[in-house]
Amino acid sequence: MINRKTLRCVSCGTIVTTRTGIGHATVQKHKFPCPTCKVEIGFVLNVDQKAPNLHYEEPTNAAWDDGAEDGEHMVLFYPEVMIPADLKPPISPFVVTVWNLKNTEEYQKEEAIRRISKDKLWPALQRALVHFENGNLELMKQECQSVVKGMPDLKDQENRGGWILSIMRQFFDRFVAHPQRSEKIERSVAAATNRAEKELRDLATEYVTTGRMIALWKELKSVRTQFMSLYESLLPLLMVRRYWKDHLQNIDGYLLSNKNFEDLRSFYVDTVETAFKLLVVGLAVELIATTGKPVAKTKKGDQDIWWFEQLNNGIKDSHLNLRNGVGHHSAHYDANTDEIVYVKADGAKLVEVHLSYTRFVDQVFEAYCAFELATVFFQWLFVAGGGRL
Ligand SMILES: [Zn+2]
Repeated sequence: MINRKTLRCVSCGTIVTTRTGIGHATVQKHKFPCPTCKVEIGFVLNVDQKAPNLHYEEPTNAAWDDGAEDGEHMVLFYPEVMIPADLKPPISPFVVTVWNLKNTEEYQKEEAIRRISKDKLWPALQRALVHFENGNLELMKQECQSVVKGMPDLKDQENRGGWILSIMRQFFDRFVAHPQRSEKIERSVAAATNRAEKELRDLATEYVTTGRMIALWKELKSVRTQFMSLYESLLPLLMVRRYWKDHLQNIDGYLLSNKNFEDLRSFYVDTVETAFKLLVVGLAVELIATTGKPVAKTKKGDQDIWWFEQLNNGIKDSHLNLRNGVGHHSAHYDANTDEIVYVKADGAKLVEVHLSYTRFVDQVFEAYCAFELATVFFQWLFVAGGGRL
């Protein structure tokens, strides 16, 4: 379904007809430069998916002009798909990119499952988490039964904790690019358990007594809740990274219609920060698996793993740079170039960095997948701590 609406630029009076494809999200945000004077025009479309009903908010730098005939300028928005930059209207981007899929049927089937997962199962899972936190076992089981089949034995806190986290994992595996990557982490945890189970359990107990377990639990929930509400913005990249043919993975030359940098940047910052904390757990587990103790050899002698947590600045990772760049308040979206612009210190100089919007969203999705992978460490630490928060 495509919705047509006309607006007039407040600066130069140019009339532009917007044609907006309606997706599954409750909010769509679109931005484009005025074709005449280059001022950024933006509008927000609220979609009541149940009614269904559309509500356009007042645009920025423009006014709705419903009496107007189609202007000579037209802008098209297609949510939830990759749009080839050289697309010729009225060809739909979906028609052009469908050939990029390895297996169309599989994609469509799994996307349908994700829709149900998001709309129906996710609210049930969120309620189940509340019941777990409050120890309401019967209510937790009841909510989980709408998500998974089968009645497990939930005799103690460790079992319940392990079970609910494994359901979460199964659920979020549907939303990442490479769910099979977690196998390597599972092997590390198994190796750590075999080598020194007591060390792993002591570490987990320390996480519980220092308040880190509950803090991480809450952060995991927060990142995943944000992801679900931003899912439709990230969906085109999930489609590419999970379902497109391997030789078509270059995303340069593709555009995205939803321009919600502000929402995505705070999600990105939270995701990267929580992923770093999960990597502390990961490092400890790797150390236990290889040396029998969660202690690293450094120049200053043996150090326990908490130093690693203090050493965020030392983590040489592309996401740390990007996180600092887009986390700064001066970072912004430029509608004329379709880029994210931020400033980076290069010695004494400040350098402006430009990143295409599509690449930015790809980085956000990549960080989210890395975060999901790192939650596997948390899952097993949580079990080793007896499922206590
Ligand atoms: Zn204008």
